[in-house]
Amino acid sequence: MLEIKHTLCPSCSVGCGINVVSHEGDVVGTYPYKRHPVNEGKNCLNGRNSVEIYENKLESAIVSNSDVDIDKAIDEICSNLKSKDNITLFCSGNNSVEDIEAIKNFAEKNNYNIALYADNIVGIDGEVASYDDVEKASKLIVIGDVLYTNPLIGRRIIHAKDNGADVYSFTPEGSVTANVSDEICDSIDDVLNSFGDNLDESSVIVFNTVNSSEDLDKIKEISDKRNSKILPVFSKCNSKGACDIVNAQSKEEFVELLNATDVLLVFNDDLIPEIDFDFASISTIVSFVPCENSTSNASQIVVPIKSWLENEGSFVNAMGETQTFDAVIESDALGVDEVIEKIQDKL
Ligand code: SF4
Repeated sequence: MLEIKHTLCPSCSVGCGINVVSHEGDVVGTYPYKRHPVNEGKNCLNGRNSVEIYENKLESAIVSNSDVDIDKAIDEICSNLKSKDNITLFCSGNNSVEDIEAIKNFAEKNNYNIALYADNIVGIDGEVASYDDVEKASKLIVIGDVLYTNPLIGRRIIHAKDNGADVYSFTPEGSVTANVSDEICDSIDDVLNSFGDNLDESSVIVFNTVNSSEDLDKIKEISDKRNSKILPVFSKCNSKGACDIVNAQSKEEFVELLNATDVLLVFNDDLIPEIDFDFASISTIVSFVPCENSTSNASQIVVPIKSWLENEGSFVNAMGETQTFDAVIESDALGVDEVIEKIQDKL
């Protein structure tokens, strides 16, 4: 019999509800969550495909390319943690609020570094715009192809435009966002310098990409000067929640920390495609992931953990609203908190 359970889409920080369809314990697809207030029954293609990345689940822990039981992997991790000096724990917006808190406590208890990378966006600690603010904005500056990458925010931008808002963007010519923009600029500087002074208190700067801390500072400076709001839209579902608990680092700061790291513990992420760094220079990488990825393939130790489908907890969406979710399938895999407890017990 088919079973449908409500949860949250894990594929970006908008926080859309999604229904997961399962058959005798196996996930077979997704279905729009009609009454969810964020997306009102719509899910984009990324959201609809969000279950597919969990098809190749890791079945066993791995040490030096051989399958081992979890206890053996935990012993190996502890041996590395005890014998090396510079330990860095990496968390990201793929981790729930509860996971991030567990990772932070683990770091503090043992004097480890903790790192968080969230799309090169740092220092967003104040209030941000709500999705209603976007929909009701008089003017919008959009940085990045938000309509393509985060379509359920894009929908709000289209509603604003239908209501008469002016849309100025820095996005590639021919992109989905370009198609709804009144003006398209060549750079962040160009769009902020040309149209920043048009913003007012009912305007919003929406962005899903920044190249540098300087670009982010310019966005914040213009929004402060014009009394308008900003809405950073992250690529990972709980990056806003993670940034509220751990200070996010810029790419340069993160690479500097990696350069000084002997043992890197990566919690539920795939860093290698995202960060340009010689990961082979780190003596031990440990990945805690539900499914194989590029970083787990380069790791000396891999521990399978629960996927989002098997987990429960809370995410904070891009506008800062905490949303809870339940597991949609049962699993014997360990959660992040359980794996940390096992390691801590043996240290
Ligand atoms: S906009 Fe983001 S959260 Fe919403 S369905 Fe698409 S990927 Fe998922």
